[in-house]
Amino acid sequence: MEDKIKKIREELDNDIKDITDLNKLNDIKVKYLGKKGCITELTSNMGELSIEERKEVGKLSNEIRTYATDLITSIEEKLKLEELNKKLESESIDITLPATNIPMGAPNILEKVIEEVEELFMSMGYDVYDGPEIEEDKYNFELLNIPKGHPARDAQDTFYIEGNEILLRSQTSAVQARVMLEHEGKEPIRMICPGRTYRRDEDDATHSHNFTQIEGLLVEKKDISLSDLKGTFDALAKKLFGENCVTRFRPSYYQFTEPSVETDISCFACNGKGCSLCKNTGWITISGAGMVHPNVLRMCGYNPDEWKGFAFGFGAERCAMLKYGINDIRTFYNADLREVGSFDRKESE
Ligand SMILES: [Zn+2]
Repeated sequence: MEDKIKKIREELDNDIKDITDLNKLNDIKVKYLGKKGCITELTSNMGELSIEERKEVGKLSNEIRTYATDLITSIEEKLKLEELNKKLESESIDITLPATNIPMGAPNILEKVIEEVEELFMSMGYDVYDGPEIEEDKYNFELLNIPKGHPARDAQDTFYIEGNEILLRSQTSAVQARVMLEHEGKEPIRMICPGRTYRRDEDDATHSHNFTQIEGLLVEKKDISLSDLKGTFDALAKKLFGENCVTRFRPSYYQFTEPSVETDISCFACNGKGCSLCKNTGWITISGAGMVHPNVLRMCGYNPDEWKGFAFGFGAERCAMLKYGINDIRTFYNADLREVGSFDRKESE
């Protein structure tokens, strides 16, 4: 009997040695522990044995049954765990896969420049005004000291809506005239008015029949001088082009200011040493400005003996072009997403 059991045990160990499959393990289970399995059969002839023999056979067959059951169960658990792991592995999600690229867009560069300017001037107590793009000749020209027939009108030839009186504004200065009249010569004014303007220009890389002007006006009872304008313009240049940017005035002529100046900023590309951007001068012209002409103050309801002011204006596109290295003004208006995309890259750099 003992030999028989030893043989069964050796056979079982051998059968189970290289098992990797639950089905095959089940076959082994049947072979040894099934109803007709060889371990079950050990006790099939118990009735024919003596009491002593029954005890002996019962004990030995129980031992081998326990041994086989434990062994098969442990292998079964091991194989089930392996199978589960394999399944989990094959069903796992690879979170390192690149996501679908959804274009996020970026702030419009022109709006961004306008917002930066608005932010600066609001921090200095200025209000931001808006005005009509379809304007009367009176506000666009006459109140700004450009009477009918004045040659200065040629440079600002615009589009007329009705006769000679209703037109598309050629400058946002029209808003300044409106705001001055609104305040009836009684209150100081600090305002900027960014907005779209129109001129009958041939479109090319630096001209557009519509463009964005940002103008500012300050009217005070106190002594206001060119040095106040210079300080204000300096702050603007530093805000837009960096802390190292310095400014200079050159004498100029406009009908609505006296004296008038053209304002230059030091070239931010070469720090004033001279390069292709500044045409080797070290300076870039950016704006026109000056002290508000007494005639303009008077016509807009302010007594020039009591009130003084300065005004300035510049093109938002020109600033954006310089700041972001854009070489064609039409880029802002032709709605080509590829070019807008190149703005995005510049923004993130
Ligand atoms: Zn330069």
